[in-house]
Amino acid sequence: MSKQSLFSSFPYQIAPELVVQVHRFLLRWYSAEQRDLPWRTTNDPYAILVSEIMLQQTQVDRVLPKYQQFLTTFPTLADLAQASTADVISVWVPLGYNRRAVNLQSIARQVIAEYDGRIPDTIDELIKLKGIGRYTAGAIACFAYHKQVATVDTNIRRVLHRVFLGLELPEPKLNDADMLTLAEQVLPTGEAYNWNQAIMDLGATICISSNPQCNRCPLQQTCRAYMEMGQYSLFPSGTVLRQLRKVAEKKADYQQQPFTSTNRYFRGRVIDLLRTIPTGQRVSLVDLGIQIKPTFNQDDLPWLRKLVDGLAKDGLLDCADEGVCLP
Ligand code: SF4
Repeated sequence: MSKQSLFSSFPYQIAPELVVQVHRFLLRWYSAEQRDLPWRTTNDPYAILVSEIMLQQTQVDRVLPKYQQFLTTFPTLADLAQASTADVISVWVPLGYNRRAVNLQSIARQVIAEYDGRIPDTIDELIKLKGIGRYTAGAIACFAYHKQVATVDTNIRRVLHRVFLGLELPEPKLNDADMLTLAEQVLPTGEAYNWNQAIMDLGATICISSNPQCNRCPLQQTCRAYMEMGQYSLFPSGTVLRQLRKVAEKKADYQQQPFTSTNRYFRGRVIDLLRTIPTGQRVSLVDLGIQIKPTFNQDDLPWLRKLVDGLAKDGLLDCADEGVCLP
């Protein structure tokens, strides 16, 4: 590793010695404290793909039981590709964000058709698959094929920012592209797998968003955010506290809207209802509205039309003049 400043194009100077120290502290912590997760005990790219798509918008503890059930129902990429979309959605439903199930099956079909059934191992190819962005592509390349690549999800972004750049409040100091560059620059040679997993573990268990547990963090003595918090005398206080309060207020505003009045709730209700209908049988829009919303009336029809159009666009249902059904 060069002893020159690593980030000549960044406005922040990060000493190579600091990077080496962070590597040592974090990898040592990870070897002792890593979470026991089933997708870490397999090299099967299909199983890792399933886990990564599930983890995109769902917490680990909710993914764990579903991951095993999904792989039992669809043990191989070919099984998933051949299944009916309605069956795939049915198994997926408790996780929510059901479009991911449709995307996952599209990926399976695309891989069978275009890659001879082998999930690609490069970021450039992975990113061409539906529903796979730069983070998931990097995660599959790294975790399934042990490629030495960096990847940035929410946890990694937060930890790298805090450790090397300082507090991400009131605004992050780097955009997504620069953050990826930072992640690539600090990637320890030959340790991409453990490093990426380690940062995610730290972000999920210790360096959490609004209440970081700095007192039990292995990076405390190398962390720029920790130093900044010290300057505000005690975390959280002063500027830090005000910013955190804003975040909390935003969250509270969001939580005040009852979930049962959100479109996400009604999208789930539509899918739940259609799962109870015999395959291919359609439900008219009005009947659907009456069954998913007790107060449904004619004025709600444009809203319901838009809702089912969105579900159809996501591949989650089939829409025709005579009504809707699962695909
Ligand atoms: S010291 Fe605190 S802010 Fe810094 S990485 Fe650890 S938990 Fe996060």
